Order: sequence, then structure tokens, then C-alpha cells
Amino acid sequence: MGKIVIISGPSGAGKTTVCTQLLKYSGVRKSISVTTRPPRHNEKNGVSYHFVSIPEFEEMLRRGELAEHARYCGHYYGTLASTLKESLASDMLLILEIEVQGALQIMEKFPETTSIFLLPPNSDTLGQRLLNRNTNKEQDIELRLETAEKELSYKDRYQYSVVNDDLEITVDTVRKILGLV
Ligand code: 5GP
Repeated sequence: MGKIVIISGPSGAGKTTVCTQLLKYSGVRKSISVTTRPPRHNEKNGVSYHFVSIPEFEEMLRRGELAEHARYCGHYYGTLASTLKESLASDMLLILEIEVQGALQIMEKFPETTSIFLLPPNSDTLGQRLLNRNTNKEQDIELRLETAEKELSYKDRYQYSVVNDDLEITVDTVRKILGLV
């Protein structure tokens, strides 16, 4: 039986970087979400996300193809039910890098899920990381910072909170939580 792990945290907390490191361990894979957000210049369809139109997303929802979904900063995001099903039927550890609303839906449907909330060391770091990313418009950065405040209030709903100050230490902490060797 496969395992699911949710990794959430505000935009700029470093989730993607941490997840990329975890993928180096055997038996770990990451769910590729569906989103209506336009791709960033470095993102490839089917690798970072499955990029779809709003009508396509709504059709997937109607057909029950998404295990969870949420609207985040004006765009839809969702996890394919087929990815979860396949992963649970295998021995894999599946990482869901998702925001809080979707995370709560998964925790309810799959109570065995491990949940980790990644925190930035402080709010200055958050803004700086979003700026450094250089792919978000100024307006988008403001909205993401506002959303970050709200997301932080959900951290107690997660089994673990990890402050991502030093990447290596963070990855090691998460690795231990997940029992990866
Ligand atoms: P970004 O636009 O920065 O790629 O993602 C925005 C937020 O949506 C991040 O917090 C990310 O973890 C979250 N997200 C990505 N995929 C999904 C998904 O399938 N479902 C939900 N609920 N959130 C997602």
C-alpha cells in the first residue's frame, strides 16, 4: 500500500525545492497537478503541471476526475484522482505539494496521510524569495503575500511544521519524518 504525504506552506516557503530533493530518494514520486494558471517561462506542460483551460478544468471536476481542488490567487488547481489511486495501489510514497484548502480535503478522505507544513524563517524571506523567483508580476506577489498570512493560520491542522531556514537541514528533517533512507 502506497503512502501519501502532503507538503503545504505559503508561496515562497521553498516547497518545490524541498520536494525536488525528496524525489532523489527511491520510491518517492510527486503528483503532477492540473491547473488553469498560465505556465511560467521555465515550466513544461506535463512536468510541472498539466496546464488546462477553465472549461477543461470544470469538465474534469464534473466527471469526478479530481481528488481535491481549490482556487488559489485567481486560478484553479487540482489533484488527479487517478494519480492517487495508482500510487496507493503501489508501494510508492506520493508527495502532494498543495495549498491548505485542498490539503484539508485530502486529510479528510485519506486520514492516513502524513501532513507537513513548511514555514519560511520570517516574512521578509517570503517576499524576497517571491521577488527572486522573478516570474511573478508585482500584483501577483502582493496577492501571494496576503494569501500567505491566511495560509499560516492553518499550520496547526498539519501533523508537522518545519521551518525552512537551511535547505539541507529541512530536507533531512522531512526525510526523517517520512522514514526515507
Ligand atoms: P504555484 O502557482 O506557485 O505553482 O502554486 C500555487 C499554490 O497552489 C501552491 O501553494 C501550490 O502548492 C498549490 N497547488 C499546486 N497544485 C495544487 C493542487 O493540485 N491542489 C491544490 N489544492 N493546490 C495546489
